Amino acid sequence: MSNLLQDKVVIVTGAASGIGRAIAISAARHGAKAVLVSDIAELPREGGTPTTQEIEALGVATRFVQADVSRKADVDRLVEAAAAFGGVDVMVANAGITARDDGADVSEESYRRLMAVNLDGTLFSAQAAARQMKANGKAGSIVLMASMGGIVGAGMTVAYSTSKGGVVLMAKSLADALGPDGIRVNAVAPGTIDTHLLRTAAGIADAAEGFRQRTPLRRLGKPEEIGDAVVWLGSDMSSYVTGIALQVDGGLLAVI
Ligand code: NAD
Repeated sequence: MSNLLQDKVVIVTGAASGIGRAIAISAARHGAKAVLVSDIAELPREGGTPTTQEIEALGVATRFVQADVSRKADVDRLVEAAAAFGGVDVMVANAGITARDDGADVSEESYRRLMAVNLDGTLFSAQAAARQMKANGKAGSIVLMASMGGIVGAGMTVAYSTSKGGVVLMAKSLADALGPDGIRVNAVAPGTIDTHLLRTAAGIADAAEGFRQRTPLRRLGKPEEIGDAVVWLGSDMSSYVTGIALQVDGGLLAVI
């Protein structure tokens, strides 16, 4: 499709399903040298073939690395696996979850698990990638998956929105910390994207039709459309872009 990611080694977390899967496949389509597919589970939640199989069919080197991003040792092992391909150039910290009982009264158990995956896991992924990029002298790109829920609040997703707001500020703060090493850090804030998470998340699933009607483009987003945005942020086409939260939402936040 293009050579935007030529010679780049890409890691995507939460890449078995949904948006992460689309990002990993987009990276392969746009010329990545290798794509490391990581997830807590290998098979897509929505059904279908493993992501690595799709990438192999495109003739791009790939490998599945099982990792729970909330466990620092798993993430360190994942990034270490990139060394076999020459080290990571683009880290996409995409893995994220919702809480079934989210809202003002979210349970302590759900809250802690959500923060462990959405905040701790995102930070561990960025840290491990930055450490390897610095050791290899690479001016890499780190992309953190936020959400429109991290830019505007919502009573039905108190924990989720809080975590994603944290991801937006994590991207800005890491951009400042890592900029002197030439490492860029940005967040992507998707609107309503048609994935398993959207269809099954408590509160969000019911609200999706309302969001669609209010979205200027009058449709839900496709996971591939987030893939395209991430390819741009990962590529040298965005070489002077760091510390932003790129809204990919069909215009929803422009009018909400
Ligand atoms: P999804 O549920 O379809 O896919 C998420 C993937 O992450 C799954 O494959 C799951 O196994 C994996 N995962 C879950 N916990 C993990 C862990 N601890 N370690 C590693 N992998 C783990 O969800 P999605 O819609 O593709 O969401 C992907 C990202 O995009 C999330 O961060 C989500 O918050 C964000 N997002 C989604 C939407 C949307 O509308 N779908 C909107 C805004 C932001």
